[in-house]
Amino acid sequence: MGPTETAIRTLEELLQSLGGFSQGSPGVTRFVYSDPWCVAHHWLAATARDLGLAATSDAIGNLLFHDPSMKPGELQPSVLLVGSHLDTVSGDGLLDGAYGVLAALLVTAELRDRQALPVVGFASCAGEETRFSQCNPGARGLLGLIRRDELDFVRDRDGVTWAHALEFARARGCAAPLADGDHPCPALFHPALMLELHVEQGALLESEELDLGIVEQVAGCRRMRVMLTGEARYAGTTPMPLRRDALAAAAEMILATERLARKAGPPAVATAGILRVEPGNFNTIPGACELGIEVRHAARPKLVELTAMVGQQCRAIAENRGIEVVMEESPGLEPVALSPALAIAADDLARKLKIPHRRMASGAAHDAMVFARSGVPSLLLFVPSRNGVSQSPNEFTAPAQLATGQRFLLELARWITDGRG
Ligand SMILES: [Zn+2]
Repeated sequence: MGPTETAIRTLEELLQSLGGFSQGSPGVTRFVYSDPWCVAHHWLAATARDLGLAATSDAIGNLLFHDPSMKPGELQPSVLLVGSHLDTVSGDGLLDGAYGVLAALLVTAELRDRQALPVVGFASCAGEETRFSQCNPGARGLLGLIRRDELDFVRDRDGVTWAHALEFARARGCAAPLADGDHPCPALFHPALMLELHVEQGALLESEELDLGIVEQVAGCRRMRVMLTGEARYAGTTPMPLRRDALAAAAEMILATERLARKAGPPAVATAGILRVEPGNFNTIPGACELGIEVRHAARPKLVELTAMVGQQCRAIAENRGIEVVMEESPGLEPVALSPALAIAADDLARKLKIPHRRMASGAAHDAMVFARSGVPSLLLFVPSRNGVSQSPNEFTAPAQLATGQRFLLELARWITDGRG
């Protein structure tokens, strides 16, 4: 068995093992601080130790892999951070987050001798919004950006505060004690640069028969809650012309949103992903409705324009139907450029290694985006997703492509740390 085959087997075995830590099946369900998340956290730390690394948790449960000689918390020397997220959505595949975490772990073990710019791997506690509706809290924690008040006011759907959920994980040895002061999760390492490897979750690479995507730009997003109020009346006796049906208005808004995003063309996307209907009876005209709409685009002016058009359409539809409408825009995320210098270096390296690749934008938010936004030169790398399927048990990337991504991450990290050595 050649070295490439060994690498494939090792990575695949690790992915299978990590995928086993799940709240039920099908697929992988591993919400942050849940029981399977804690078990996976312990398993990752033990796997890191088997590879000769130390594993250190920060105060919100991010897990960092590093050479045992390094002292977390001293912030010196600066490091190359490499990793992705440990949590998943409900019924996720084996690769989302896990692939980037395990590839980073193997790369960190391989390059643990780097002195001038040491490599530190990470499994961020949460990259998904599934539990706390927070954007990439793990990456913000790695940068020391979490505020104390957030831990108390952020709650999951069951009303459990972030602080309380975190205590559960801490009691199980998956998080360090909180620090005093306004920022209770201090950064353990200072990142000079950051790399993240992830599955594409789209079909662009596959359609162009490429093995690697070098991401230069991450799309921004805007979110709107649209509250519609009509009139809940008995359905059996209210003639059609007298109705003020909040759900029928929402249905028109959903289709208008879809139409506008299609017309704007790629990479614009818009999604109505939340719909709540009151009172929810067969025989009552829906009197109230809440709709959640998200718009994404890689270019800020286009993002602003499309969001405004969706808002205008929703208002016009409500007016036509005699429906009262209140729209709340929640704080959005601006599109962010990843490091142009790293993208050029990665492009050159991929050409040298003869890996079919392209530069591209990402429609999905990732930990790399948080680092880039904080001024850390960062790069996101994609491997193809079969049929573009992700966040599903059917998520699949060919083993040879997974190995290519891992090898590329290793060689890029080697090149970066050699350049600094
Ligand atoms: Zn992910």
